[in-house]
Amino acid sequence: MKVMDNETRAIWTEADRLNALRQYDILDTPAESDFDDIAQLAAEICGAPVSLISLIDHDRLWFKAAVGTDAKVSPREHSICTNLIGHGDLCVIPDTSIDSRFEQNPFVHGNPGLHFYAGATLETDEGLPLGMLCVLDEQPRQLTERQRLMLKALARQVMTQLELRRVLKQKRQSEEYLNLIVESARDFAIISMDIEGIVTTWNSGAEHIFGYKSEDMIGQCVAVIFTQEDCTLKAHSLELATAAELGRAADERWHVRKDGSRFYASGIMQSMLNEQGEIIGYTKIARDITAQKNAEEAMIAARNYAEAANIAKTDFLANMSHEIRTPMNAVIGLSNILAMSQPLTPKQKDYIRTLQLSADSLLALINDLLDISKIEARTVELEATPFSLTQIAQEVISMMAVRVKEKSLSFTLHGECVEHKSFIGDPTRLRQIVLNLCSNAIKFTNHGSVSIAIDCAAAGSPELKMISIAVRDTGIGIAADKLATIFEKFTQADSSINRKYGGTGLGLAITKTLAEIMGGTIEVESTVGVGSCFTVRIPLPIAHSEKAEVIETAILTADVRNDAQSGHCILLVEDYAPNVMVAGTFLESFGFSYNVASNGMEAVEMAKTGHYTAILMDVQMHGMNGLEATQLIRAYEKKSALAPVTIIGMTAHALTGDKERCLSVGMDDYISKPFNPDELNQKLSILRDAIAA
Ligand code: ADP
Repeated sequence: MKVMDNETRAIWTEADRLNALRQYDILDTPAESDFDDIAQLAAEICGAPVSLISLIDHDRLWFKAAVGTDAKVSPREHSICTNLIGHGDLCVIPDTSIDSRFEQNPFVHGNPGLHFYAGATLETDEGLPLGMLCVLDEQPRQLTERQRLMLKALARQVMTQLELRRVLKQKRQSEEYLNLIVESARDFAIISMDIEGIVTTWNSGAEHIFGYKSEDMIGQCVAVIFTQEDCTLKAHSLELATAAELGRAADERWHVRKDGSRFYASGIMQSMLNEQGEIIGYTKIARDITAQKNAEEAMIAARNYAEAANIAKTDFLANMSHEIRTPMNAVIGLSNILAMSQPLTPKQKDYIRTLQLSADSLLALINDLLDISKIEARTVELEATPFSLTQIAQEVISMMAVRVKEKSLSFTLHGECVEHKSFIGDPTRLRQIVLNLCSNAIKFTNHGSVSIAIDCAAAGSPELKMISIAVRDTGIGIAADKLATIFEKFTQADSSINRKYGGTGLGLAITKTLAEIMGGTIEVESTVGVGSCFTVRIPLPIAHSEKAEVIETAILTADVRNDAQSGHCILLVEDYAPNVMVAGTFLESFGFSYNVASNGMEAVEMAKTGHYTAILMDVQMHGMNGLEATQLIRAYEKKSALAPVTIIGMTAHALTGDKERCLSVGMDDYISKPFNPDELNQKLSILRDAIAA
């Protein structure tokens, strides 16, 4: 059945109505005085002998309250209430006996023969009629206007009572539900306390976790569960005060069980407020996360251990590198000296050449291994200094000049960053990238050319440029299916490469990782038999000063001593005899005389004489090292108002930061061992020329 309102709009169905009635859970409940009183009042006010609070169930009328009759139910069929429902908030039938709708009604035509009926609808807020508050009389009659109003008001009172019952029932249910949750949450301690920390709720989870029974704790101070050192109730309150806006604070700390054992719990503290918004207590919900905490601590310990192991590995590598490079310096240096001596038989020349090649490749291997270990240990620290990109390319071209000449190749540089000559970045690492690519290009090219092309493009901001360095060759090329793998460690394009060209397969892995660390990329295009092109793209900020040039030419303008003896004497500070021999022989061949100091202390004393054009200072020595000696020399010069002598550090260490360490103690320049004789000659010649000028 669908009931229509005046505008013939469907407003409710019988199913909706019955459903609404069920929500009140009122049918078949015992009598309640609140309802009885209303029925009594209705009868009194209307002067009627019978009054009913009649609810219309699907097949019956059920009376919540009845005055003037003992009946509790009545069949719905032929009932007056059912007939009148949905016809306004008040229905008055002065004489039912003459109304055809009620001719079958036993109350009207049988005993007691009730001829007068007035009913006010019991209607929900949604407009669903649940039944009637009605008054009945044996005599036909009318209701005064006042009685009608009062009857309707009483019907509303019935509905208020019904609503109240429903809300109370819902509240009771949700409390029971909450209690059930609180009690059944064995893994969660739920504890409420007042502002003084006196426990008011202690659930079974709290019993389980802390070992205290609820009867032990209710009414007691909560402080017993906190460890003395990190937690008091005051600390909790303070935390809550800081989280005042939310009234909630994360709560993670150590706690103590009844048996004295400790455990780590995580949870929240929530403040409870009264109607004035004042804190009247707290609820704490906590969960034992000791296992998780222990696992985290074990993980941190393992990470620290791994980091320590990594540092130890880097230290070990640094020391081993020094130990290997020091004798290598002698081997390379002496083989170079031998190669210069005369006369040599062709066989001897061959031996020396092989010795030089082996020593060179051993050194390259040591350098690569050292680099890859540093990269893997993530200990590569990038510099951020101004430098000139074109200058780097030119340096690489001059470093490769001998090999290019040997192979009769052309080696050219194209393009430049016309607008911005200098950038901020790590020139050493960029030089390494360009050098690796060029030395591969030259190695794998037997005829034709190698070229470097530099280009700069916009990179999203006016301060940033995307620089690209493309190294192109006309060499053997790389098969398409090998292009991806050549960037992996220890990988060469095929097994014949090592036999024919040597190498370790580390160079490109290092180059790629360095480019990526700088935020860049590397890609390759190649055709077998035609050639290859490796392109590195790296975003770099523009340097606004001309500092790049200043740094590169620092040694030119270094204040030099004018009181040097004729013939320019160099103080060679070195404690490893074979290296003294190597460096000494080179110095002589460059036209310098030299004195030797075999430790830092000796060097300081000799430097005080002020007779040296420059000091070549080994960094790592027994006794006083080169860094300390430099500091003492600089302090002496300052005290005696002497012009500072040029000090060039020499170290067999090849780790990032060596150069910085040398410069930071007052050295002017740095050269890595085994040194390149040309590089040393160049540095010293610049000094000599500056003095002569
Ligand atoms: P290595 O040069 O020590 O073998 P790399 O990692 O530098 O190691 O290079 C890996 C491999 O990539 C080389 O062995 C070679 O097969 C290939 N390759 C690199 N550069 C070139 C190039 N310019 N031309 C041809 N092949 C190249």
